[in-house]
Amino acid sequence: MLEKFLYGHQDDSQTNYDAMRYSLILNGIAIVHLVFMILFYVMNVYFMGIYNTVVVILYFYLARVISDVKDLSRLYWIVLGEVVLHSCLATLFVGWNFGFMYYLSSLIPTSFYLAFSIKAFRRKLTFPFITAGVTFFSYMAILTLAHFVSPFYPDTAAGFRVFLTYMNIIIGLSVTFLFSALFAVEVNSMQLRMENEQERLEDEASYDPLTHFLNRRSMDERLNHTHRNAIINDIPYSLIMADIDHFKIFNDSYGHDCGDFVLQNISKIITAQIRSKDSACRWGGEEFLILVNDGPEIAVDVAERIRTAIEAFEFNYEGKALHVTITLGVSGYYSSAKVKTLIEIADKRLYKGKEGGRNCVVSS
Ligand code: GH3
Ligand code: MG
Ligand code: MG
Repeated sequence: MLEKFLYGHQDDSQTNYDAMRYSLILNGIAIVHLVFMILFYVMNVYFMGIYNTVVVILYFYLARVISDVKDLSRLYWIVLGEVVLHSCLATLFVGWNFGFMYYLSSLIPTSFYLAFSIKAFRRKLTFPFITAGVTFFSYMAILTLAHFVSPFYPDTAAGFRVFLTYMNIIIGLSVTFLFSALFAVEVNSMQLRMENEQERLEDEASYDPLTHFLNRRSMDERLNHTHRNAIINDIPYSLIMADIDHFKIFNDSYGHDCGDFVLQNISKIITAQIRSKDSACRWGGEEFLILVNDGPEIAVDVAERIRTAIEAFEFNYEGKALHVTITLGVSGYYSSAKVKTLIEIADKRLYKGKEGGRNCVVSS
């Protein structure tokens, strides 16, 4: 619950959480006004007592109907106007020293928080800027006025004076702190959401969705990097080009979904057989290119492991037991070779394997 209040949600229910946050804030303001109402009546400041009675009813009512309010940002101006009006009136009635103006400064972080967390505010800086302007102006105006006009009720009992002053300072500063902290939390969670989204987009751009292997674009990058490393640091690498045998038959006999099922399972088998430092890519439809960070002897071992694992595996598709084989061509890095040449060599060897009867590893 608290998490939802703080972070909200990205989906459609965002509006509901916004309404919930808003309604919590409105209820909070209503409760503070309720305390003022009681105190003002007890202090015989009837005008402020009645004023607070009206706004308590108004806030509780707004908090109840908030989910029906179409544009939460409009409501903001009402709340801003009311808080400013109350601070000014209370100061005029009982005096500057009571600290009613602390509520005005607490509006600034609150407006930043709302602008950046409630969807309807659309991160518009208009809200905090106008709030800051209004706060500044009313502060100055009431300060000046209080200088010339003495409070309408100057004889408040010392007990009330102390209580109200402390209450205003404590609530005013706490709200200032609370909404500054919430703003920081909001920005933090926004950053987190963006990082996650970026990660997701990067993943989407780098991996094949069916097999979760690297796609061709990211494999190209990896190959170029490995190739440079081979040239500069003399670190060997090899390539395995693999193509599923008679794959078309699975599609034609059992449907395209069966073909996809085989592809997914083959990618799992390949992943299990290659080492973590090697990488596999979906090069084409049912063709895979595997980068082995070692010389061709090791690559032949890896290729043979893949071949036997696939040959031994029984694919169970909708109750039917299927057997699949794969043919693989291996090429090893040598100085002066280009990546393209090594891919072509692996490809030629793969087709040599196809011609030779499939289900084999060809490395020369
Ligand atoms: P060979 O042993 O000579 O490689 O025979 P093959 O049937 O595997 O080769 P061919 O190139 O004739 O057929 C490949 C088939 O792979 C054709 C194409 O429809 C299918 N294919 C390519 N990509 C996908 C895919 O993502 N899903 C499915 N289900 N089929 C695919
Ligand atoms: Mg094939
Ligand atoms: Mg093919």
